[in-house]
Amino acid sequence: MKSTDNKWLILKPNVILTEHIDPVIHSLDEYFEAANLKSYVTSGLRNSEDQLRIIRTELTRRGLAGEYQEAFDSISGKTVYENEEVYNWQPGWSKLLSLGFVVNPPYSAKCLMDYFRPGSISNSKGRVIGQSPHTRGRAFDIGGGPDGLGNELRVIESAMGKVKGLKGFLLERNQNCLHIDVQFIDMENFK
Ligand SMILES: [Zn+2]
Repeated sequence: MKSTDNKWLILKPNVILTEHIDPVIHSLDEYFEAANLKSYVTSGLRNSEDQLRIIRTELTRRGLAGEYQEAFDSISGKTVYENEEVYNWQPGWSKLLSLGFVVNPPYSAKCLMDYFRPGSISNSKGRVIGQSPHTRGRAFDIGGGPDGLGNELRVIESAMGKVKGLKGFLLERNQNCLHIDVQFIDMENFK
C-alpha cells in the first residue's frame, strides 16, 4: 500500500486500507501539501460490526440506549416492531435517522420511521437503505479538527476531476468528517 508513506494526508493507525481507496489517498497527499494542510484519514474499510458500534455509541450518547436496548443484542438476531420481524438494531437505527443522524445500517434494511434525508422533501420511511460504501471498501473519511472541515473541503474540491478514482464527497457534520467516495478501479485492466 502506498498511502502509508503520506506526509500530509496521514492515516490514523486503526485505518484499514483497500486496493480502491489506497491509490486515491496517496494521490491526494500532494494536494494537502500544496495547501500546507496536515489532515488525517480516520476511517477506511469498515465491517457490519463497526457500523453497529457507531449506532450503539450514538444511541448511548443521546440517552436512547434504554429505549432501544435490542440494538445491543446480536447483530443478526431479530425482534418485533409494529407486528413485523426486524433486526434487533433496526428500530434504534431508524430512530437515529429520524433524528437526523445519518448512518448506514450494518446490513441492508428498511427504515421503520419518518426520515427525510438532508436536502430531501420525500419521506424515506419504508425504503430499504443499503450497506455503507465503507463496507465495500470504496470509501474513507477525513476527520475534522476543532476548526471544522472547511480547509479539507477546499482541498478535495480542488482535486475533483484531477485525481483518478476520486468520485465524490459528502460533509458528515454530525460525525465531524468529510466522507470520500471512490470509484471502482479495475486494476487488471488499468493502464
Ligand atoms: Zn464515511
